[in-house]
Amino acid sequence: MNNLSYLAKITNVDGDKVTLQLKESLNIERLKTIFDGYDGERQAEIFIKDPREFTAQQRRFTYALLQDIYTYTGEPVESLKDVFYWQFRYLTGKDISLSNQSINTVDDVAMLDELILDFIFSNDIPFREGYEIPPQNTQYYFYKCVTTRTCCICGKKNADIDHFDKALGRRKRKEIDHTGFTFAALCRQHHTEKHQMGIARFKNKYHVIGVKLNQEQITKLRIGGR
Ligand SMILES: [Zn+2]
Ligand SMILES: [Zn+2]
Repeated sequence: MNNLSYLAKITNVDGDKVTLQLKESLNIERLKTIFDGYDGERQAEIFIKDPREFTAQQRRFTYALLQDIYTYTGEPVESLKDVFYWQFRYLTGKDISLSNQSINTVDDVAMLDELILDFIFSNDIPFREGYEIPPQNTQYYFYKCVTTRTCCICGKKNADIDHFDKALGRRKRKEIDHTGFTFAALCRQHHTEKHQMGIARFKNKYHVIGVKLNQEQITKLRIGGR
């Protein structure tokens, strides 16, 4: 840590006035040399640290993803980790680790998992059935499944895009505003299963979440018919 970074505890918040208690005193001598001859504003920057450490579920999910990439590519998990950790460092300037000594947060690992998911979807890596997806990644996961037409349950490609929570019914596909609907990518088999068992039971069995799309995505995916 250089002489200008300090750890502090927030002791009071009053609108935009925040009181901090530094863990050590300010290094006045150092500040004097910096501000010598300068009479502008003295500015500081604060980061609020996320105290929640990443969860065991996140660790399991990360390793499940790496394992699937290994199975498909033959690239050992240790070297895959190096690649994704490096990407994370490149994007955030921070280190990441999943070891017990790690100080990384829920948000850090959620971001790492997004990087790994991006890789999986853009390289068509087959994945195992029934990932246990951490809540921080569910939205992103189901969204990627839809935009890449990957069955969100079994990973099969060229999946159907199902109007998930609310059926299209007898309304005309072309005349409807699809932005009010939610969608899920399902292969033929899982799509048929959904309509046979009904939405409630299906959700209960597979924990699928429908995602909203904007008009541009709907057009791109040709959901509105052509
Ligand atoms: Zn499927
Ligand atoms: Zn359907």
